[in-house]
Amino acid sequence: MNKTIAVIRGDGIGPEIVGEAIGVLDAAAVKFGHSFTYQEAPMGGNAIDAYGVPLPDESLATCLRSDSVLLGAVGGPKWDSQPSANRPERGLLKLRSSMGLYTNVRPARMFDDLSSACPLRADIAARGIDFVVVRELIGGVYFGEHSTSEAGGEQKATDIMAYSEHEVRRVARVAFDMARKRRKRVTSVDKANVLDTSRLWRRVVTEVAAEYPDVELLHMYVDNAAMQIVRDPSQFDVVVTENLFGDILSDEASQITGSIGMIPSSSMGEGTRGLYEPIHGSAPDIAGQNKANPIGTILAAAMMLRYSFDMPAEADAIESAVDQTLKAGYRCGDIMNEGCTLLGCKEMGAEIRKRI
Ligand code: NAD
Repeated sequence: MNKTIAVIRGDGIGPEIVGEAIGVLDAAAVKFGHSFTYQEAPMGGNAIDAYGVPLPDESLATCLRSDSVLLGAVGGPKWDSQPSANRPERGLLKLRSSMGLYTNVRPARMFDDLSSACPLRADIAARGIDFVVVRELIGGVYFGEHSTSEAGGEQKATDIMAYSEHEVRRVARVAFDMARKRRKRVTSVDKANVLDTSRLWRRVVTEVAAEYPDVELLHMYVDNAAMQIVRDPSQFDVVVTENLFGDILSDEASQITGSIGMIPSSSMGEGTRGLYEPIHGSAPDIAGQNKANPIGTILAAAMMLRYSFDMPAEADAIESAVDQTLKAGYRCGDIMNEGCTLLGCKEMGAEIRKRI
């Protein structure tokens, strides 16, 4: 198969980790007889420097023409003083909405060999962590109207949180479809005791559940969910929630599995084209030092093969190469254990490539 992949290397450690993910994709392409063509799409702080905007039209067009998009990370202190409409993350928000990516999926799975990196009590970790957070990505408060006004000598700020039924229905279906391929349990997270958007969310998710009689549905308030994720994460299979709650809970979920450098994420809309990236940011503190862990980005590339290109064997090959590399005792600095071998970003990429 021939596939065109738009590549957004981004800022900070972005170019280092994306380089290793491309190396692993190429190794999979050789093994399975595919050809991947990469098209560069500058976005983020580097695009502000070169073109004056975080997402140049040409980059957006490249992404929209591609079969899928691989992203490192954008942003950094250099661009923190940009006006809010021209910050690096604006490019990412515009890309997500222009591509119609309404669902973000983040697996929270603890690797057997990394259980010592789990910050939870050993008896809780021993029950296992293997769930998926399905987050609505282009609605809610992040996309509502934002305003700041002046009245009575003080400032007042307002952010509107809005959801319509179809926005809830389509992401709920993604969650139920995913649960069907897993342990058949959906936990829908909301704040229906306080928010109208959450009451609408709960009603629509309950309606969608009727289409999936084989999948169990539970509702949970977001404050309780935040607590249950650290108290007993083994109870979760698929968690579905709105944009803001999902942003926070998916970070919490990834932290309990160990390092932020290990977790991939996929963003999908209608059709098969998706945006694949690690969950972490551009890590300016370690940029350019060959210290970044590329595994999150490599696993994001594996998700691309599985979900966008329908290449499950190829995705399995990458995931198993990562497992074998960890089993062999190789680690980057963020997941280093006593008795293991410390590798840089490039060397970790090379070890994984060898095992494809
Ligand atoms: P961060 O995720 O970049 O870094 C947090 C900590 O984790 C740092 O100590 C960093 O060194 C470490 N870390 C992150 N990824 C790592 C990896 N692969 N290997 C080893 N260590 C890793 O979060 P931050 O410091 O809050 O943000 C830095 C910049 O990234 C900010 O400008 C922020 O806006 C941006 N950001 C971008 C995205 C994105 O592009 N999707 C997401 C989050 C943050």
